[in-house]
Amino acid sequence: MKFLTLENGYLGAVIEDTAVDLGAAARELVATLPAETLLDLVRAPEGAAAEVWAIAHRAVALGVACRPLAEVRPLAPIPSPQRNIFCLGLNYRAHVKEFEKNQELPDAPIVFTKSTTSIAAPGDDIPAHTDVTQGVDYEAELALVLGRDGRDIDPADAWNHVFGYTAINDVTARDLQKTHKQWFLGKSLDGFAPMGPLLVHRSVMPAASEITVRSHINGELRQDSTFDNLIFDVPTIIATLSRGATLLAGDIIATGTPAGVGIGFDPPKFLQPGDEVIVEVTGVGPLINRVAPG
Ligand code: MG
Repeated sequence: MKFLTLENGYLGAVIEDTAVDLGAAARELVATLPAETLLDLVRAPEGAAAEVWAIAHRAVALGVACRPLAEVRPLAPIPSPQRNIFCLGLNYRAHVKEFEKNQELPDAPIVFTKSTTSIAAPGDDIPAHTDVTQGVDYEAELALVLGRDGRDIDPADAWNHVFGYTAINDVTARDLQKTHKQWFLGKSLDGFAPMGPLLVHRSVMPAASEITVRSHINGELRQDSTFDNLIFDVPTIIATLSRGATLLAGDIIATGTPAGVGIGFDPPKFLQPGDEVIVEVTGVGPLINRVAPG
């Protein structure tokens, strides 16, 4: 089961290369749709995704409310989340070492957030913000979207709180990150969280070792790892974030980036106006954005 947010903000499903406008499909098929948007679906009771999926299959079989996926320009899967994106810092071993020489591996998860207004759609230009930063960097990541509220979540139960996953580019102003110590400012500039295009339901999520997390800059492969290389795995992340604090269905958790970011090179390879950035997470489809021309 794969879903997206259509241009108009409403819920879509993707079956092979076909996108279904679920609102239109439900009207044509006189079916009851349990959610109008992807955020509604994520927050809906368990079972809603399967109901929606059944409508999508009927629509494809009858050729109703369908068009080629290539003709859709989706928004971010959750374009306006209820609160900041939770993010893991330094969560791949090789990235810890490139980030700063002699940097110790963290002994507990490093957590920061990105503001909701940093979210951007696939295909949107990434603003260069040259008036506030000279060090814009890319970070390919797998992002989880939670489907169930919880507090003090047991690691053994953590995956039951995950609705699915998507891709995010945790774009970072490295100079702001360094100057202000806390990472929020350098991570939260407008347009610094391109996300999508697809949200893949957990029921069809491949094994962690089968999910690659990659980035290409102007066609050059920069990051290439697999999701089983996390230092702190998904159960540990969710247990940590929910200790004494409530996580909500609809929350987004960016799980960290592998080695190969711009600051890891000597000299650093920061993004420049006009650069094309492609983030690829297995199953999600390419997340393609260009840095706005200067
Ligand atoms: Mg990151």
